[in-house]
Amino acid sequence: MRIIDILNQKNMSLSFEVFPPKKESSFSSVARATEEIAECRPAFMSVTYGAGGGTSRFTLDIAKNIEEKYQVPTLAHLTCVSSSRETVHRKIREMKERGIENVMALRGDLTPELMGTDPSQWEYSHAVELVRELKESGDFCIGAACYPEVHPDSASQKEDIRFLKEKVEAGADFLTTQMVFDNNLFYNFLYKLREAGVTVPVLPGIMPITNAKQVERAVKLSGSFMPQRFKSIVDYFGSDPEAMKQAGIAYATDQIIDLYANGITNVHVYSMNKPDVAKAIMGNLSAILWKDFA
Ligand code: FAD
Repeated sequence: MRIIDILNQKNMSLSFEVFPPKKESSFSSVARATEEIAECRPAFMSVTYGAGGGTSRFTLDIAKNIEEKYQVPTLAHLTCVSSSRETVHRKIREMKERGIENVMALRGDLTPELMGTDPSQWEYSHAVELVRELKESGDFCIGAACYPEVHPDSASQKEDIRFLKEKVEAGADFLTTQMVFDNNLFYNFLYKLREAGVTVPVLPGIMPITNAKQVERAVKLSGSFMPQRFKSIVDYFGSDPEAMKQAGIAYATDQIIDLYANGITNVHVYSMNKPDVAKAIMGNLSAILWKDFA
């Protein structure tokens, strides 16, 4: 099923992101965790793709496993900046052969090896090039990334939104945001996108923080703003794993309910291969999901 058709339905939906294993030896344990998340019946599941080769091998295997066993639609991520055109085209062919309908088109992070080289020699510089190639090579439903707090490579939000609009014009059907911990940043960003003429669905990305160590990692990776309200939770409960987990799930649930109550019908959760977290959030929303309150 095409994800854009799910997003255009009026009812509230929740989707989850998972990541594939790094090594063949952990395939079955990762596959099992993603299956347990699929058992929660999310609207769809996205499967990430390691930028420098890393976990890219198993993205399609995990995505197909979820679709075939649980009929949960999947979104296979694909990055381009650290790949050759030949590799990307091979991946696109493989996606078509395996019946992948939904692709998240990403640039990928710049690796230290790339940083020291001349960008004019790179085979891909920006995700928009991948969006165009996907559009030309098949009937994919295409997702792309966006940044309510501005991508770190951008000189300004205005510039970031201008390039984002190009990605949409090139064929991105919907957008998913970098993780946000303060919904007001998302509302503000969405307002600016609509003002700039970007009309496709935009899914806020919610990361449930369930242990104190994860906070540092999440902030370092995303650069996202941590509200004082959340910092207080970590300060107070961080040393008790069970209490921190419960508080982190409650915080994420609260964010999701606020988004739904403000008319944002589709929310994406960075579930980090944690079935217990996915199940708890789904349970907290059981009387809300799949309903049309409009
Ligand atoms: P782009 O859209 O290319 O944007 C990158 C920067 O270039 C921005 O500053 C933008 O404003 C600028 N730019 C864009 N187009 C142009 C242009 N034509 N000319 C000049 N500047 C331009 N990484 C992975 O490795 N694997 C994953 O699976 C993965 N999944 C992700 C999922 C989501 C929802 C998000 C938000 C990020 C994900 N990432 C993933 C991280 C992502 O690859 C990085 O954030 C990366 O640095 C940027 O990717 P992008 O697709 O947004 O790039």
